Amino acid sequence: MRTVVVATHNHKKSTELQRVIAAEGLQAEVLGLDELPAYPEPAETETSFEGNALIKARAAAGITGYLAVADDSGLAVDLLNGMPGVRSARWSGPDASDADNLNLLLRQLADTDEEQRTARFVCAMALVAPDGREWVVRGEMLGRLVLQPRGSNGFGYDPMFVANGQSRTNAELTPAEKDAISHRGKAVRSMLPLLREVLRETAG
Ligand code: IMP
Repeated sequence: MRTVVVATHNHKKSTELQRVIAAEGLQAEVLGLDELPAYPEPAETETSFEGNALIKARAAAGITGYLAVADDSGLAVDLLNGMPGVRSARWSGPDASDADNLNLLLRQLADTDEEQRTARFVCAMALVAPDGREWVVRGEMLGRLVLQPRGSNGFGYDPMFVANGQSRTNAELTPAEKDAISHRGKAVRSMLPLLREVLRETAG
C-alpha cells in the first residue's frame, strides 16, 4: 500500500487525513511525523501560508521518500492588515499559549466596531511527490470577530470567530459542523482529487 506522510506532530491533523482518505476509498497508509524516525525540521521562514506549507512538505518528501502533505494555517484580520497571519501560533511570543494569543488579539481590537472586525481563517495545504512535483491548495473561512469569547470546542482563536452565516462561534460548533465549513476542511477536500490522481499514478 502507498504511504503518505503528514508533516505534523499534531495527531488530530494526521488522523483527520486518515479519516478523509479512508472515507474516499483511497488505498493509502497515513503516517504523522511522530510515527517516523525524527529528522531536523526546517524553520517556517516564508511570509505566506503556501510558502510555509511547501517548506514542510518538501522536507518530509525529501527526507522520507514518501508522498508528503503539509498544511499551514492562521487567522487574517482585516483591521490588522492580514495579521496575525503566518504568525498566528506565536502572536504573543515564541512560547505563546492559545489563551495568550487570543487575549492579545482581544486587546488589539478593543474599541472597534463589529462591522469593522471582519477576518478569515486561511489554510494552505501542500502535496509534494518524492519525484519533486508540487501542488498547493487553499481553503478560507470568512467571518467576523466578537469581543466576548464563547464556547469550549476547537482551539486557537475559535472562541472569538463567528463564520458568515453562523450565530455561534467556531468554539460553539461541533467538530463535524466546523469541518464542513472550515478553511482546513475546504483545503482537504480540494486536495483529494489531486491525491487520488497521484496515488493512482504511483501505484503502478
Ligand atoms: P497551525 O497551522 O496548526 O500551526 O496553526 C497556526 C495557528 O493558527 C494556530 O496555532 C491557531 O492560533 C491558528 N489557527 C489555525 N487554524 C485555526 C482554527 O481552525 N481555529 C482557531 N485557530 C486556528
